[in-house]
Amino acid sequence: MDSEHILTQLRAEGYLISASYQDSDLVIVNTCGFIDSAIAESLDAIGEALVENGKVIVTGCLGAKGDVVWQAHPKVLAVTGPHSTNEVMAVVHQHLPKPHDPYEDLVPAQGIRLTPKHYAYVKISEGCNHRCTFCIIPSLRGDLVSRPVGDVMGEAEHLVKAGVKELLVISQDTSAYGVDVKYRTGFWGGRPLKTRLTELATALGELDKTGGKGVWVRLHYVYPYPHVDEVIPLMAQGKILPYLDIPFQHANQRILKLMKRPASSENVLARIKQWREICPDLTLRSTFIVGFPGETEAEFQELLDFLKEAQLDRVGAFTYSPVEGAAANELPDHVPPEVQQERLARLMLLQEEISEQRLKRKIGKTITVLVDEVDKDGAVARSSADAPEIDGLVYIENGQQLRVGDFVEVKVTGSDAHDLWAEMA
Ligand code: SF4
Repeated sequence: MDSEHILTQLRAEGYLISASYQDSDLVIVNTCGFIDSAIAESLDAIGEALVENGKVIVTGCLGAKGDVVWQAHPKVLAVTGPHSTNEVMAVVHQHLPKPHDPYEDLVPAQGIRLTPKHYAYVKISEGCNHRCTFCIIPSLRGDLVSRPVGDVMGEAEHLVKAGVKELLVISQDTSAYGVDVKYRTGFWGGRPLKTRLTELATALGELDKTGGKGVWVRLHYVYPYPHVDEVIPLMAQGKILPYLDIPFQHANQRILKLMKRPASSENVLARIKQWREICPDLTLRSTFIVGFPGETEAEFQELLDFLKEAQLDRVGAFTYSPVEGAAANELPDHVPPEVQQERLARLMLLQEEISEQRLKRKIGKTITVLVDEVDKDGAVARSSADAPEIDGLVYIENGQQLRVGDFVEVKVTGSDAHDLWAEMA
């Protein structure tokens, strides 16, 4: 999102964007400072830009981490933190004066987005009020700041008018939307609207005038607070996609407590059951950390038992790795890497079987998909169960005549643990 805001501002002021170092007057590197591998990658990218171009501005999370960038690359022009479009633009103006007479209409109605034209990410808040012990996002990005609901709706409406077919709602903690402003009532289209997840999801669902086949709304990073139950009926009614990306991270209460996870004491299994009763088509995606400090074999086994019971559709799992500055580093009894790897392999094996079985049940069904790519071999699409980049795909073997961004009905003919194969219904 930061990159998109900066690009939009650059284009609005008449600057041109180039894909090569050689054709550019200066380079802006947007960095990530979340995990050590991302830091190394960001520092490499800065080094490459310095060698290839020489004039480099650094922005993003890594910029917020003290002197890391200056120490590694003292020749950069400036270092700013995340959400610093204004600071970045000030440095750009200093080193590359504004072009004369910028055309105001250089920016298309939807702004500049880095995702393909038919889907877009809508960020509803920044920062986080939690302090999960493995995470340093709050120290990089600060406490939760919710965007005004009218602004979020205005942006979403704009995107839909510009042809976007899928809105992906993101934030660090989507369920907490509005907590910081005490769920203040804002305005959208002349009517009052609360700064709150249920109200926002309802209003986003109303952007689609065709009953679920014109605009998809997908919710990411939803923590299982009690009020999340309120969005499930919206999913059952087809107003927003029946899809919840809900990072549980573990199932054992002691580990969840050590992680300081939000809403960890809610009775998750009972609620999943209830959600599926209300919305049988619900897709659940979650992520888990394996080998958190102190995790015993019995506690890990509890996580496996949870997965067997929960029958989640999509799961991402990672071994715990210490992030510089994270409180969990100080916890005792770190799990040896070989034990972590062995547990990860066991978890993934189990989940693969579950995902495979769940996808198999779709064979023979007719589903709606959104086309992402078309070539001579057919079309590649996604169903309501597949978020871009992270979930599976639907391969349509006789879909050569389709267009990117089309919604189509297909009959599922095959499946594996991740993807589906289908033909035009
Ligand atoms: S909820 Fe926890 S993991 Fe997510 S951003 Fe906040 S502190 Fe980090």
